[in-house]
Amino acid sequence: MSLTERKPELEAPIFEKSGVGRVGYHPSAAADACEPRLDASLLRDDLDGFPELSEPEVLRHYTRLSSLNFSAVTNFYPLGSCTMKYNPIVNDRMASLPGFCGIHPYAPTETVQGALELIRDLEHWLAEISGLGAVSLQPAAGAQGELTGIKIIRRWHLAQGNARSKILIPESAHGTNPASAALSGYDAVVIPTDERGLMSADSVKALLDDEVAALMVTNPSTLGLFEVEIAEIAKAVHDAGALVYMDGANMNALMGKAKPGDMGADILQFNLHKTFSTPHGGGGPGAGPVAVRRDLEKYLPGPRIAEKASAAEKQGLLYWDADRPDSVGKVRSFYGNFGILVRAYTYMLACGGDGLTEITEKAVLAANYIRAGLVGRYHLPYDTASLHEVVFTDKVQNAHGIKTLDIAKRLLDYGFHAPTIYFPLVVAGAIMIEPTESESVETLDAFIDAMLRIADEAENDPQRLHDAPETTPLARLDETRAARHPVLTWKRASEDIDDERDSQSAQPEKGA
Ligand SMILES: *Cc1c(COP(=O)(O)O)cnc(C)c1O
Repeated sequence: MSLTERKPELEAPIFEKSGVGRVGYHPSAAADACEPRLDASLLRDDLDGFPELSEPEVLRHYTRLSSLNFSAVTNFYPLGSCTMKYNPIVNDRMASLPGFCGIHPYAPTETVQGALELIRDLEHWLAEISGLGAVSLQPAAGAQGELTGIKIIRRWHLAQGNARSKILIPESAHGTNPASAALSGYDAVVIPTDERGLMSADSVKALLDDEVAALMVTNPSTLGLFEVEIAEIAKAVHDAGALVYMDGANMNALMGKAKPGDMGADILQFNLHKTFSTPHGGGGPGAGPVAVRRDLEKYLPGPRIAEKASAAEKQGLLYWDADRPDSVGKVRSFYGNFGILVRAYTYMLACGGDGLTEITEKAVLAANYIRAGLVGRYHLPYDTASLHEVVFTDKVQNAHGIKTLDIAKRLLDYGFHAPTIYFPLVVAGAIMIEPTESESVETLDAFIDAMLRIADEAENDPQRLHDAPETTPLARLDETRAARHPVLTWKRASEDIDDERDSQSAQPEKGA
């Protein structure tokens, strides 16, 4: 493999390219003819220095910018915990069918029976995969699914007479877990991770008391490890009168193989944008359906899909049942992120049950292939068997002054998006790799090869890693400042950089 040959040019900010009076692509006569179409009230003249460009200039500017980016469409993107699997194009085609993308949420239900059927079937399939009784597709992200689940837990405890005050969460958990607990008024209590990287039944039992409302567990954990004591742990939690919430962001390691309901989970969220191949990133819409034990269904967000039962009322007709007095309420408007639901439905239908099981097998195989290719050259903090992702550290490379961030930056030169770094927090200098099932063995080999070369470079040429990346227009940005104080013109940029030169650089953060 060779490094990218030509270093791309820096693209000038759009404000630098502006020329007064440049608009559209029509010759000016035609442009005049077009202009009356815009109501004068919509034209703004109060923005100082608003860029004026022709349509091709705008198109080229943004296309060039997009080509400077790494994406799952252009590069291997092994971002651990995020499951950046391939998003099949057919998903988008189906979501673009006029019968799906053209319907209005207020359309009479008789006219949108197909959309309601899709929702009903998708709920049913997810319930089957989770081993739980009922599903709501409303939540718009994994984190919102968690929040919905914790609200349900609170309702259930209140119905028993006491909401309780604590939620137990393992040290390795995703940050959204304690956030969901805190937002619902609970204190997050940390369960330590043992030398296997796991949660032991003894450590959970030691923390259980009658103030614990739930255990919030990710299985497999964010270390990619299966919590082998989960059945014993779930039993102890239930015996203490608490519930088991399972974070299902890693269902791509279980789907078709094991059901959370069978492990004792009472509530679980799915991340359709992870396990079921719908897009993420750019703050775009996701979906975090929440599944619950049958007796908790009454607490699910409403309204819910139901079927008219009596012949007098058009038997079999699907409708929205809003008469749900125990529900935690609406968490998202209308049908949830319906376009995402269509994509996930398409994926599940295209794969079939056996296909989904095979996906799990291949995701686990790919992670273990990478593990086997790197072990010995990179430090593996836990010896426990990996499922769909594997966490290494920079401990070996530290001896040469090389850190995880240097390794991640150098990977860009080899044409790979970096894995998730410095997460989970429980592992110092973590490098968390999740290849997913959709990559060829050649791509996995090329990635392993790049990681091994970087390990060589750490020993023989550490300065090169400190200077990496070499092939991007800019090398090391202060990422926090770049996000919080975007500089949109070069004229301002030089002044700002002078001002800010001495300020501290911030800690690197986990990828989204
Ligand atoms: C991604 C992730 C979440 C949060 O899901 P979002 O859809 O990003 O809100 C929660 N827990 C785990 C383990 C995750 O990997």
